[in-house]
Amino acid sequence: MAKFNPVPSEVLHSALENAGFTKSLSGKEVVYDLRNHHNPSLSVRVFTSSKVGAGKVVSCGKDAIRASLVYTNSSGNTNGTKLKFSRVNRVGTTEAIVGRMLDLAREVYRAANNIAAVGPCRCGAPRYEDTKACMAFCWKKKDSAASNTLDHPHVA
Ligand SMILES: [Zn+2]
Repeated sequence: MAKFNPVPSEVLHSALENAGFTKSLSGKEVVYDLRNHHNPSLSVRVFTSSKVGAGKVVSCGKDAIRASLVYTNSSGNTNGTKLKFSRVNRVGTTEAIVGRMLDLAREVYRAANNIAAVGPCRCGAPRYEDTKACMAFCWKKKDSAASNTLDHPHVA
């Protein structure tokens, strides 16, 4: 059985920064985001279970490291997507955990590449690879498309 290893937040955070991620906050949780180069409205978001409390970062080292693919809409709000990814348990050496975290981030980045390749919805938002459904749910809105299309980034 591999041994539990809490891994200090600083180690995870500097590995993510070296990989080009930018620190951000989701509520009180510290998250690290990396925009997809094909479609900057899609980002890999890594959750290291670190929270901001009393102005400093507190590690809650028991939880698994998670990652998700998030979509930033034309108003600048970040939305989760329905895609699910595996978690990185804090077992084994620090080096191995950091390596698995970066592997997970690459997996999410590849998923973003695949979505970017599908091409945008006519409203400008990205679409899911499998169902081709719009991530902005524009079909649900009465006054859909048009109004907020202009500032949507286009797929390269
Ligand atoms: Zn749409």
